[in-house]
Amino acid sequence: MFVSRAVACASLFAGAVACSTSSNPGTGVRAAEVRQPAVDEAPAPSGGAEPSAESDVAAATDERGAGDEDEDEKEKKEAEPVDPLVALRDATPRCDPAAKHCFGLFVHVVVDDEGAPVQSLEWVTAQIAGAQDRFAEAADASFEVVEVEPLAAAHRDIVSRLDRDKLGRPHFSRGVVHVFVVGSLADVDGPGEIRGVHWRDRANTARRWVILSSIAGSLTLTHELGHFFSLPHSRYAGSLMNKQPGGPPFAERRFHAKEAAKMRRAKAAMIGDGTLVPRAAAKPAEPGPAAEP
Ligand SMILES: [Zn+2]
Repeated sequence: MFVSRAVACASLFAGAVACSTSSNPGTGVRAAEVRQPAVDEAPAPSGGAEPSAESDVAAATDERGAGDEDEDEKEKKEAEPVDPLVALRDATPRCDPAAKHCFGLFVHVVVDDEGAPVQSLEWVTAQIAGAQDRFAEAADASFEVVEVEPLAAAHRDIVSRLDRDKLGRPHFSRGVVHVFVVGSLADVDGPGEIRGVHWRDRANTARRWVILSSIAGSLTLTHELGHFFSLPHSRYAGSLMNKQPGGPPFAERRFHAKEAAKMRRAKAAMIGDGTLVPRAAAKPAEPGPAAEP
Protein backbone atom coordinates (compact mmCIF):
# COMPACT_ATOMS: atom_id res chain seq x y z
CA MET A 1 0.00 0.00 0.00
CA PHE A 2 2.83 2.34 0.67
CA VAL A 3 4.65 3.69 -2.23
CA SER A 4 8.30 3.48 -1.65
CA ARG A 5 9.94 6.29 -3.37
CA ALA A 6 13.48 7.28 -3.37
CA VAL A 7 13.65 10.82 -2.25
CA ALA A 8 16.78 12.08 -3.75
CA CYS A 9 17.79 15.31 -2.28
CA ALA A 10 17.41 17.75 -4.98
CA SER A 11 17.78 21.32 -4.29
CA LEU A 12 20.53 23.46 -5.44
CA PHE A 13 20.69 27.02 -4.53
CA ALA A 14 22.87 28.18 -1.82
CA GLY A 15 20.70 30.66 -0.10
CA ALA A 16 21.33 30.84 3.51
CA VAL A 17 18.66 30.46 6.05
CA ALA A 18 16.37 33.19 5.10
CA CYS A 19 13.87 32.66 7.77
CA SER A 20 13.98 35.28 10.34
CA THR A 21 15.59 34.89 13.59
CA SER A 22 14.76 33.49 16.79
CA SER A 23 12.66 33.86 19.73
CA ASN A 24 13.01 37.02 21.55
CA PRO A 25 14.24 36.24 25.00
CA GLY A 26 11.95 38.79 26.45
CA THR A 27 8.73 37.61 25.03
CA GLY A 28 9.91 34.21 24.08
CA VAL A 29 8.33 34.17 20.72
CA ARG A 30 6.95 36.33 18.07
CA ALA A 31 3.59 36.51 16.54
CA ALA A 32 3.04 33.50 14.45
CA GLU A 33 2.32 34.90 11.09
CA VAL A 34 4.54 37.87 10.70
CA ARG A 35 7.41 36.18 9.02
CA GLN A 36 8.05 37.01 5.48
CA PRO A 37 8.10 34.34 2.89
CA ALA A 38 11.59 33.13 2.74
CA VAL A 39 11.61 31.23 -0.45
CA ASP A 40 14.17 32.22 -2.92
CA GLU A 41 14.82 28.88 -4.31
CA ALA A 42 15.81 27.89 -7.75
CA PRO A 43 14.58 24.94 -9.66
CA ALA A 44 16.32 21.76 -8.88
CA PRO A 45 17.41 20.04 -12.03
CA SER A 46 19.37 17.41 -10.29
CA GLY A 47 18.21 14.61 -8.21
CA GLY A 48 14.87 13.06 -8.12
CA ALA A 49 12.08 15.50 -8.39
CA GLU A 50 9.60 13.16 -6.96
CA PRO A 51 6.47 14.95 -6.13
CA SER A 52 4.53 14.32 -3.09
CA ALA A 53 5.51 12.63 0.04
CA GLU A 54 5.75 9.57 2.07
CA SER A 55 2.90 9.45 4.39
CA ASP A 56 3.05 7.52 7.53
CA VAL A 57 -0.30 6.25 8.35
CA ALA A 58 -1.27 6.13 11.93
CA ALA A 59 -4.70 4.74 11.87
CA ALA A 60 -7.37 2.99 9.99
CA THR A 61 -5.15 1.03 7.73
CA ASP A 62 -3.42 -2.26 7.78
CA GLU A 63 -0.09 -0.58 8.21
CA ARG A 64 -1.03 0.22 11.65
CA GLY A 65 0.49 -2.81 13.22
CA ALA A 66 3.85 -2.07 11.79
CA GLY A 67 3.45 1.54 12.35
CA ASP A 68 5.53 4.18 13.74
CA GLU A 69 4.32 3.90 17.13
CA ASP A 70 4.73 2.12 20.28
CA GLU A 71 3.52 4.86 22.40
CA ASP A 72 0.89 7.40 22.40
CA GLU A 73 1.97 10.47 24.11
CA LYS A 74 -0.78 12.93 24.12
CA GLU A 75 -0.35 14.38 27.48
CA LYS A 76 0.44 17.97 27.63
CA LYS A 77 2.88 19.44 29.90
CA GLU A 78 1.81 21.70 32.61
CA ALA A 79 2.91 25.25 32.70
CA GLU A 80 6.62 25.70 32.77
CA PRO A 81 8.59 28.30 34.59
CA VAL A 82 9.95 29.64 31.34
CA ASP A 83 8.24 30.27 28.09
CA PRO A 84 7.51 26.82 26.73
CA LEU A 85 8.67 27.73 23.26
CA VAL A 86 11.94 29.08 24.52
CA ALA A 87 12.36 25.83 26.39
CA LEU A 88 11.85 23.87 23.19
CA ARG A 89 14.84 25.67 21.79
CA ASP A 90 17.06 25.94 24.82
CA ALA A 91 16.24 22.87 26.88
CA THR A 92 16.21 20.24 24.14
CA PRO A 93 19.29 18.14 23.46
CA ARG A 94 22.27 19.65 21.71
CA CYS A 95 23.99 17.80 18.92
CA ASP A 96 25.87 14.70 19.84
CA PRO A 97 29.48 15.92 19.87
CA ALA A 98 30.64 12.54 18.67
CA ALA A 99 28.82 12.97 15.37
CA LYS A 100 30.71 14.49 12.51
CA HIS A 101 27.92 16.78 11.36
CA CYS A 102 25.42 18.76 13.37
CA PHE A 103 22.28 19.97 11.62
CA GLY A 104 19.75 22.50 12.79
CA LEU A 105 16.08 21.85 13.26
CA PHE A 106 13.76 24.82 12.89
CA VAL A 107 10.69 23.87 14.87
CA HIS A 108 7.35 25.48 14.16
CA VAL A 109 4.77 24.49 16.69
CA VAL A 110 1.08 25.19 16.81
CA VAL A 111 0.03 26.99 19.93
CA ASP A 112 -3.37 27.59 21.42
CA ASP A 113 -4.82 30.95 22.17
CA GLU A 114 -2.91 31.05 25.44
CA GLY A 115 0.36 30.30 23.71
CA ALA A 116 0.64 26.72 24.89
CA PRO A 117 2.19 24.41 22.32
CA VAL A 118 0.36 21.29 21.17
CA GLN A 119 3.13 19.13 22.51
CA SER A 120 5.47 19.17 25.44
CA LEU A 121 9.15 19.73 25.98
CA GLU A 122 9.47 16.07 26.91
CA TRP A 123 7.87 14.99 23.68
CA VAL A 124 10.11 17.15 21.53
CA THR A 125 13.12 16.04 23.55
CA ALA A 126 12.24 12.41 22.90
CA GLN A 127 11.91 13.06 19.17
CA ILE A 128 15.33 14.64 19.02
CA ALA A 129 16.96 12.08 21.25
CA GLY A 130 15.67 9.31 19.01
CA ALA A 131 17.04 10.99 15.92
CA GLN A 132 20.35 11.67 17.56
CA ASP A 133 20.71 8.10 18.62
CA ARG A 134 19.92 6.58 15.23
CA PHE A 135 21.65 9.13 13.06
CA ALA A 136 24.90 9.19 14.99
CA GLU A 137 25.34 5.57 14.17
CA ALA A 138 23.87 5.50 10.70
CA ALA A 139 24.94 8.80 9.21
CA ASP A 140 27.51 10.28 11.56
CA ALA A 141 25.08 13.14 11.97
CA SER A 142 23.19 14.78 14.78
CA PHE A 143 20.48 17.38 15.22
CA GLU A 144 19.57 20.20 17.53
CA VAL A 145 16.84 22.79 17.67
CA VAL A 146 18.05 26.16 16.51
CA GLU A 147 14.81 28.07 16.21
CA VAL A 148 11.31 27.74 17.55
CA GLU A 149 8.37 29.73 16.33
CA PRO A 150 4.69 29.50 17.09
CA LEU A 151 2.05 28.72 14.53
CA ALA A 152 -1.43 30.08 14.96
CA ALA A 153 -4.14 27.73 16.11
CA ALA A 154 -5.64 27.93 12.64
CA HIS A 155 -2.92 25.46 11.60
CA ARG A 156 -3.77 22.97 14.27
CA ASP A 157 -5.46 20.43 12.01
CA ILE A 158 -3.75 19.73 8.71
CA VAL A 159 -6.30 18.09 6.49
CA SER A 160 -5.43 18.49 2.85
CA ARG A 161 -2.44 18.50 0.57
CA LEU A 162 -2.94 22.21 0.20
CA ASP A 163 -2.79 22.56 3.97
CA ARG A 164 0.57 20.80 3.93
CA ASP A 165 1.86 23.06 1.19
CA LYS A 166 0.64 26.19 2.88
CA LEU A 167 1.91 25.13 6.26
CA GLY A 168 5.53 25.09 5.21
CA ARG A 169 5.76 27.33 2.20
CA PRO A 170 5.89 30.70 4.01
CA HIS A 171 8.52 29.43 6.41
CA PHE A 172 10.78 27.41 4.21
CA SER A 173 14.47 28.12 4.03
CA ARG A 174 17.47 26.09 3.15
CA GLY A 175 20.22 24.94 5.43
CA VAL A 176 18.07 23.51 8.17
CA VAL A 177 15.29 20.98 8.49
CA HIS A 178 11.96 22.64 9.11
CA VAL A 179 9.77 20.61 11.43
CA PHE A 180 6.13 21.53 11.91
CA VAL A 181 4.38 20.20 14.98
CA VAL A 182 0.62 20.29 14.56
CA GLY A 183 -2.35 18.99 16.44
CA SER A 184 -3.52 16.48 13.86
CA LEU A 185 -2.45 15.38 10.42
CA ALA A 186 -4.97 13.72 8.17
CA ASP A 187 -4.13 10.92 5.81
CA VAL A 188 -4.69 12.52 2.42
CA ASP A 189 -4.84 9.13 0.74
CA GLY A 190 -7.61 7.68 2.84
CA PRO A 191 -9.47 7.96 6.08
CA GLY A 192 -7.77 8.45 9.36
CA GLU A 193 -4.77 10.28 10.65
CA ILE A 194 -1.07 9.86 10.24
CA ARG A 195 1.70 10.53 12.69
CA GLY A 196 4.11 12.29 10.44
CA VAL A 197 5.10 13.03 6.89
CA HIS A 198 8.05 14.21 4.86
CA TRP A 199 6.35 16.62 2.53
CA ARG A 200 7.40 18.29 -0.68
CA ASP A 201 5.76 21.51 -1.69
CA ARG A 202 3.86 20.62 -4.81
CA ALA A 203 4.74 24.00 -6.31
CA ASN A 204 8.43 23.25 -5.98
CA THR A 205 9.48 19.85 -4.82
CA ALA A 206 12.89 21.09 -3.80
CA ARG A 207 11.15 22.69 -0.86
CA ARG A 208 10.47 20.00 1.66
CA TRP A 209 9.85 19.72 5.34
CA VAL A 210 8.66 17.40 8.06
CA ILE A 211 5.24 17.57 9.65
CA LEU A 212 4.65 15.80 12.94
CA SER A 213 1.26 15.24 14.45
CA SER A 214 0.89 15.58 18.18
CA ILE A 215 0.09 11.84 18.22
CA ALA A 216 3.54 10.98 16.89
CA GLY A 217 5.65 8.66 18.97
CA SER A 218 9.23 9.26 19.81
CA LEU A 219 10.74 7.78 16.64
CA THR A 220 8.46 9.45 14.14
CA LEU A 221 10.86 12.33 13.59
CA THR A 222 13.66 9.85 13.06
CA HIS A 223 11.62 8.02 10.43
CA GLU A 224 10.75 11.24 8.62
CA LEU A 225 14.35 12.39 8.72
CA GLY A 226 15.16 9.08 7.10
CA HIS A 227 12.98 10.25 4.22
CA PHE A 228 14.63 13.66 4.31
CA PHE A 229 17.94 11.82 3.94
CA SER A 230 16.65 10.11 0.82
CA LEU A 231 15.28 6.85 2.14
CA PRO A 232 12.10 5.24 0.86
CA HIS A 233 10.18 2.75 2.90
CA SER A 234 11.95 -0.58 3.00
CA ARG A 235 11.53 -4.21 3.85
CA TYR A 236 14.68 -4.60 5.88
CA ALA A 237 13.87 -6.44 9.04
CA GLY A 238 14.30 -4.18 12.00
CA SER A 239 14.48 -1.03 9.94
CA LEU A 240 12.81 2.16 11.00
CA MET A 241 11.74 2.53 7.39
CA ASN A 242 9.98 -0.81 7.23
CA LYS A 243 6.26 -0.36 7.61
CA GLN A 244 5.24 -3.88 6.82
CA PRO A 245 3.29 -5.68 9.53
CA GLY A 246 5.28 -7.68 11.99
CA GLY A 247 8.88 -7.43 12.91
CA PRO A 248 10.53 -6.06 15.96
CA PRO A 249 8.85 -3.40 18.05
CA PHE A 250 9.29 -0.02 16.49
CA ALA A 251 11.08 1.30 19.53
CA GLU A 252 13.88 -1.16 18.91
CA ARG A 253 14.37 -0.37 15.28
CA ARG A 254 17.29 1.31 13.64
CA PHE A 255 18.43 1.94 10.10
CA HIS A 256 19.72 -0.91 8.00
CA ALA A 257 23.36 -0.74 6.97
CA LYS A 258 22.41 -0.16 3.35
CA GLU A 259 20.08 2.61 4.41
CA ALA A 260 22.85 4.10 6.47
CA ALA A 261 25.15 4.10 3.47
CA LYS A 262 22.51 5.78 1.37
CA MET A 263 21.89 8.42 4.01
CA ARG A 264 25.57 9.21 4.20
CA ARG A 265 25.62 9.80 0.47
CA ALA A 266 22.53 11.95 0.75
CA LYS A 267 24.09 13.88 3.59
CA ALA A 268 27.13 14.67 1.49
CA ALA A 269 24.96 15.75 -1.41
CA MET A 270 22.79 17.95 0.79
CA ILE A 271 25.82 19.60 2.34
CA GLY A 272 27.24 20.05 -1.11
CA ASP A 273 24.21 21.79 -2.52
CA GLY A 274 23.31 23.79 0.56
CA THR A 275 20.16 21.92 1.47
CA LEU A 276 21.80 21.43 4.83
CA VAL A 277 24.48 23.54 6.38
CA PRO A 278 26.42 21.83 9.13
CA ARG A 279 26.60 23.74 12.32
CA ALA A 280 29.71 24.27 14.28
CA ALA A 281 28.91 21.77 16.91
CA ALA A 282 30.00 22.13 20.45
CA LYS A 283 32.55 19.47 20.03
CA PRO A 284 36.05 19.13 21.32
CA ALA A 285 38.44 21.36 19.49
CA GLU A 286 40.18 19.54 16.75
CA PRO A 287 43.87 19.14 17.19
CA GLY A 288 44.71 21.44 14.43
CA PRO A 289 46.69 24.43 13.50
CA ALA A 290 47.14 27.32 15.69
CA ALA A 291 44.61 27.67 18.35
CA GLU A 292 43.83 31.18 19.27
CA PRO A 293 46.04 32.37 22.03
ZN1 LIG B 1 7.48 6.97 5.97
